[in-house]
Amino acid sequence: MKIFGANVFTDAVMRERLPKNVYKSLKKTIDEGLPLDPSVAEVVASAMKDWAIERGATHFTHWFQPMTGFTAEKHDSFISPTADGKVIMEFSGKELIKGEPDASSFPSGGIRATFEARGYTAWDCTSPAFLKEDAGGVTLCIPTAFCSYTGEALDKKTPLLRSMEALSKQALRILRLFGNTTATRVIATVGPEQEYFLIDKKFYEQRKDLMLAGRTLFGAMPPKGQELEDHYFGSIKERIAAFMKEVNTELWKLGVSAKTQHNEVAPAQYEIAPIFNTTNIATDHNQLVMDTLKKVANRHGLVCLLHEKPFAGVNGSGKHNNWSMATNDGQNLLEPGTTPHENAQFLTFLCAVIKAVDDYADLLRVSCANPGNDHRLGANEAPPAIISVFLGEQLTDIFEQLGNGGPKSSKQGGQLTVGVTTLPPLPKDSTDRNRTSPFAFTGNKFEFRMVPSSLSIAGPNLVLNTIVAEVLSQMADRLEKAADFNGELQAILKEIATKHKRIVFNGNNYSEEWVEEAAKRGLPNIKSTVDAIPALITEKAVALFGKHGVLNETELHSRYEILLEQYCKQINIEAQTMIFMAKRQILPAAAKYTALLANSINAVKSAAAGADVSAQVETLEEVSAVLASFKKKLADLEKVTAEAKGLEGDVYEQGVFYRDVVFKAMGDLRADGDKLETMVDSALWPIPTYAEMLFMI
Ligand code: ADP
Ligand code: MG
Repeated sequence: MKIFGANVFTDAVMRERLPKNVYKSLKKTIDEGLPLDPSVAEVVASAMKDWAIERGATHFTHWFQPMTGFTAEKHDSFISPTADGKVIMEFSGKELIKGEPDASSFPSGGIRATFEARGYTAWDCTSPAFLKEDAGGVTLCIPTAFCSYTGEALDKKTPLLRSMEALSKQALRILRLFGNTTATRVIATVGPEQEYFLIDKKFYEQRKDLMLAGRTLFGAMPPKGQELEDHYFGSIKERIAAFMKEVNTELWKLGVSAKTQHNEVAPAQYEIAPIFNTTNIATDHNQLVMDTLKKVANRHGLVCLLHEKPFAGVNGSGKHNNWSMATNDGQNLLEPGTTPHENAQFLTFLCAVIKAVDDYADLLRVSCANPGNDHRLGANEAPPAIISVFLGEQLTDIFEQLGNGGPKSSKQGGQLTVGVTTLPPLPKDSTDRNRTSPFAFTGNKFEFRMVPSSLSIAGPNLVLNTIVAEVLSQMADRLEKAADFNGELQAILKEIATKHKRIVFNGNNYSEEWVEEAAKRGLPNIKSTVDAIPALITEKAVALFGKHGVLNETELHSRYEILLEQYCKQINIEAQTMIFMAKRQILPAAAKYTALLANSINAVKSAAAGADVSAQVETLEEVSAVLASFKKKLADLEKVTAEAKGLEGDVYEQGVFYRDVVFKAMGDLRADGDKLETMVDSALWPIPTYAEMLFMI
């Protein structure tokens, strides 16, 4: 396919355009994580500039991912004036390596205030540069990390890269113990499946809630919900198909191997999944996927909603983060092998992941926490907020046998002793699929299903990489010292299988019984974002992230602050938007309807004194009663929102207030608002309905 990667400064382009020694040196940095030679940057910059200009680029930008979760860009022109009044197209190694965007408008959680105001972007050569084409022209985008002057991470990429290093280092220690001498790097691989909604732009533009908060804050359920797949007509499909075709083309040009497909779950909901890549590139690509979905939707008169819960009562959106570890000599470490030796190694990595998930469930939970996901987790459409691992029948059986210790026959027959005697082949458990588990083993990778649709996948993956690195390091510490490797390994795996079997659950995670069972097992059930966030600053978290050089205490505290602040801000925006809609749209519409009824009663009575107006009177009474209640709840919401705004001091306490008081008042107001929608003359209703938004595209 000719267009695939056409807009990417790929390995092939570099090989073609860079002098051999420069290419080799850069490759070493990319593949083995060696420091970048500055003289190399100069040559690469020049080649990159020529390549970009040949393709029409006029500007370049350091493309980075501040803590807002979006991508940010600061465009600079290649053009430099010369002494004789002309211009030349310039791009130096220095400009490639380092940028100084105005950082003051990005959240830092206090980092910059204490240290230094400036932020710096630094070239991440492990994710390829690419060209962005839009109405504004062609721009060379250079993926970068974003740090403070003292090196504290102000972004999502920096700690992600650090976590990949940590995982590689610890996994290699284990591989060496298994006799692997060829692998020099272990790469965390990720394939994120992205869900989203599409609605017609004309409806979106009439809904302040969608425009400002990304989700509907009012809206009664249509007479039918998710079962209405028959509402897609041929012409509708064509419109979506045209959109998808263009999304694919745009993404292919950017080197994203995307494959869009229908999603059957909710009306107007779809999914796109790329082929997996390194964690870093997968994360960059997922940001590009989200950007592209929005941009292309707009061109088609559509709007792409990435919010976790755009519509109440209809399934929301998430991301399924498929994760594994691969060596640079071509092994997937979570691929069950066919020989005993491979099996032992596989079981070691598998057990490491299981222990990591149990030991650090609170960190995985916070990595998926945002206000939108609070609507999904535990609401019977997404995994509950309880973290557990699905292994499937056969692996669970083997895992349990490891715990029982000693060689025993497995379900397939044969001996089950790690590393020494034979272990039966481990066939893939592909038929045994469980769709309700938050963390499911799917044959040769884990699928982390709690990730919110709008969130950068950097957070969930940096946690996964780091917690697995930690358990691998604990294992390596013991194994490297052991006189009897097989004996010690057997002991470690037995310990894990005994201590951590509580995290393994293959049943229905949506059921009420599981919530009770999980509580008995002592598994945390952290229901809200506000409750999840403090996990970032526990002593355990500080020790973990510090030990592996992923996030230091300052950086963790900054993230704690930023997340809580973002929570408060988001709920405040939602509350203010509701107040606007309630006061200026819903209340006037309902009042007009009551006037209409009152006029009708009077008119009918004066025209025919004996006529029965009980229907109008009854309706008028009913609507007026709900309207009065609605008005009272509106006043309540206004009061508590003002109160929340005035809160000072501890940001956690503010978060608790927003959740327990403001968010609750929003729910109360919505209940009455949605009731009014079902009573008021539809001709008077001022905002598009769920039926229109979900079924008319
Ligand atoms: P499903 O049955 O869920 O559709 P797929 O095999 O299609 O499973 O994979 C879903 C996603 O998982 C894709 O993005 C795919 O690239 C990714 N994936 C497959 N193998 C790996 C791996 N080893 N590491 C990370 N992601 C992977
Ligand atoms: Mg999947």
